[in-house]
Amino acid sequence: MNVLEVKRLCKSFGPIKAVDDVTFNITEGSVFGLIGRNGAGKTTTLRMMMNIYTPDSGEILFYGKPVDNDFKKKVGYLPEERGLYKKMTVLDTLLFFADVKGKSGNDIKKSANEYLEKFDLADRKTTKIQDLSKGNQQKIQFIATILHDPEFLVLDEPFSGLDPINTDLLRQIIIELRDKGKVIIFSTHLMDFAEKMCDYISMIEHGKIILDGKLSDLKTKYAKRNISMNYSGDISFLKGNPIIESIEDFGNTTGIRLKDASQIQNLLKLLVDKKIDIKKFDANDISLHEIFVLLAGNKAGKEVQNV
Ligand code: ATP
Repeated sequence: MNVLEVKRLCKSFGPIKAVDDVTFNITEGSVFGLIGRNGAGKTTTLRMMMNIYTPDSGEILFYGKPVDNDFKKKVGYLPEERGLYKKMTVLDTLLFFADVKGKSGNDIKKSANEYLEKFDLADRKTTKIQDLSKGNQQKIQFIATILHDPEFLVLDEPFSGLDPINTDLLRQIIIELRDKGKVIIFSTHLMDFAEKMCDYISMIEHGKIILDGKLSDLKTKYAKRNISMNYSGDISFLKGNPIIESIEDFGNTTGIRLKDASQIQNLLKLLVDKKIDIKKFDANDISLHEIFVLLAGNKAGKEVQNV
């Protein structure tokens, strides 16, 4: 069932079409990734969902009704620009944000303490926000987003500023929340994160959706003609061969896209004949990053890889 429907959403800032006819649906019990490069239109889309920006056209429906203040109460929103009161202590900050959302009392206090424990911040309860590291402030902002137990989470670049350990922790907690039935949408420019976490994705580029759907379906669809390969040797002889559509170097692996899936055996034969030492040859695997490169072009792929 669709929890949220985004329909033909448009928003321009002067001559810039930040969001250009964007449509997607978010279903119950899923993690949805809005992915794309810096400036692609992710934040603008999320801000329209949160009623911060008014769309030029299009609509956003929550269980079939336009989003309103009732929706806002049910949502936990982690904005891109983080904002906490610097002189407030950690625990007071959490209780304050829960109170704003209409939740207070011992249960909330207990829950705040549990989350602080989970995020390894139990000993910082009475520390002022300004005395926390940036990463720890980020964790407090995340706890503040979920403490009132919202059914829907809107997270704008939730992993920015976190080290790998905390990134993993956050990822684990987001998945736990999904397993409890929460619906989660998050934006990221990091394809790897989206790939590990999302059930559904929408890929946005220059304000337009260039790919969307169930991640596993998309991967199956795009894998058919794509071989992910690790090897040693020189494969430059493949360039210009009529069975090959493109060859991309992704650093760890090389992606070879065939013109036709039936040419896999011919490709293998070519490689074996040239005595290429093949360490991995996978015709069923394609990363989201590779899909992005195929759709948005090599230049885009390199930029994404580098951010
Ligand atoms: P990032 O990952 O860098 O945050 P994004 O995908 O979230 O990028 P948006 O912040 O939505 O992208 O920006 C989309 C486009 O709209 C960009 O060209 C941006 O410069 C422009 N834009 C966004 N907000 C405004 C604004 N308030 N006024 C003018 N232009 C804006």
